Amino acid sequence: MSSPEEVVIVGAGLVGAAVAYQMAIRQERARLILIADRDPARDQGPPELDVYSIWWPGPDDTMLRLVSRSIDLLEGVSDLSNGSIGMNRRGQLLVTTRSDGLSALRVAAGRMAGLGFGPLREHVKIDWYLPSPITGFRGVPDGFDLFERAAAARASYPFLAAEIAGALHVRRAGWVDGVALRRWLMIEARSLGVEVVHDTAVAIQAADDRGPRVALASGATWEAAAVVACPERRMRATLNLLGTPLPLWDAPRVQARLAAGADRILPDAAPVVTGIDRPGGGLHARPTSDHAILGAWIPETPAGSADEIASNAGAGLLGALAELVPAAATHRGPSSALRTESSIQARTADLRPIVGPVAPGVLLNAAHDRPTSSALAAGDLVARYVFGEPLPDFAGGFTVDRLTATGKWEGGRGKGEGAASQRAE
Ligand SMILES: Cc1cc2nc3c(=O)[nH]c(=O)nc-3n(C[C@H](O)[C@H](O)[C@H](O)COP(=O)(O)OP(=O)(O)OC[C@H]3O[C@@H](n4cnc5c(N)ncnc54)[C@H](O)[C@@H]3O)c2cc1C
Repeated sequence: MSSPEEVVIVGAGLVGAAVAYQMAIRQERARLILIADRDPARDQGPPELDVYSIWWPGPDDTMLRLVSRSIDLLEGVSDLSNGSIGMNRRGQLLVTTRSDGLSALRVAAGRMAGLGFGPLREHVKIDWYLPSPITGFRGVPDGFDLFERAAAARASYPFLAAEIAGALHVRRAGWVDGVALRRWLMIEARSLGVEVVHDTAVAIQAADDRGPRVALASGATWEAAAVVACPERRMRATLNLLGTPLPLWDAPRVQARLAAGADRILPDAAPVVTGIDRPGGGLHARPTSDHAILGAWIPETPAGSADEIASNAGAGLLGALAELVPAAATHRGPSSALRTESSIQARTADLRPIVGPVAPGVLLNAAHDRPTSSALAAGDLVARYVFGEPLPDFAGGFTVDRLTATGKWEGGRGKGEGAASQRAE
């Protein structure tokens, strides 16, 4: 595609806002229209984890390069917004109770260091370990610090359990205020001429002989040179609109937070704490000003209603966290101050997003496992496709054709979308 006159972006979550922003700052003459069915639910809701991290240990550097570029762009946005997106770089503390877990962390961090993403420093004691600052992201050591003993980790992070085998501090990580980030991108995009249309795309038709046509619920239709679909939580429905089934799997995610005023689990100055001992799953916790937020994704779709999934996973999450951070044990039990919600998000087998053309004139930008880490670089990639700019050589790692039959296709019209979701749709 080159120099289209009109581009329609469908979906105004973080990923769609990043596309609109990246296109708008290019000052191309294209008319940019952003179709937003509503403000994302999270704008009115409580904060989410909004963690970004360079930690993408494998299998190669494809995702690392996208994420590294995206964090560069995020830092640029933080500067341009005068810090209003609340970006910190406290790092991500990956914690394990197992000696083989510690070995795996050492190998993975060594590989990432070998790929040029910062040095690996190994500590038996902490005499030369420099903690990350609580705010800001300048002047922070890069790379990775491996604590090879519980005592070394606990000297800097005394909230950790004495029984852990060790921990890895990933330095290029932290979190942002995700609502502020999306708002800033939207305000900037609008001020640069992006037109926001509050409507729902109900059909996207591609044709070889003309540009794609987008039909809206209001009855309006748009013919554009290019359409970029950024549906995320309405991914299945959008693939149905596009007539493009893809090998995706349904990743259940649970977000849990302590009620305001509950006893703290993590001190205010803590980094993101990630447990790595659950096979195939992940556990993250970080502090907020009035309560700790915990989030996890769990490997298999559990049976049961959304309430059951959320409450079982919340209890499991606290149990797993208590093995790493003993203060979490005080919140277990029926009177727990933990509030949980679950959702199901479509993901690719390699957990990389899909960013690229799916039909003539139509691009998909979706299935971001952690969009805070990837949305800005994905937006840049989309803009390059649409405006015919040179693509980085990692672009092919995100196109749909990498998703072969080996991917797990849970298939079926609308399956999984919102099925166990309390916050989607
Ligand atoms: C427990 C948990 C923890 C998480 N932790 C993190 C984390 O630490 N870091 C991180 O980066 N991410 C994390 N995430 C993921 C993150 O919260 C979401 O994936 C992210 O907010 C999705 O943003 P989005 O813009 O891609 O999609 P959405 O927020 O879903 O936005 C897409 C928008 O497009 C709209 N839309 C879709 N189809 C149409 C249509 N046809 N017409 C018009 N509009 C349409 C939707 O209604 C929606 O408003 C976590 C998620 C969970 C559940």
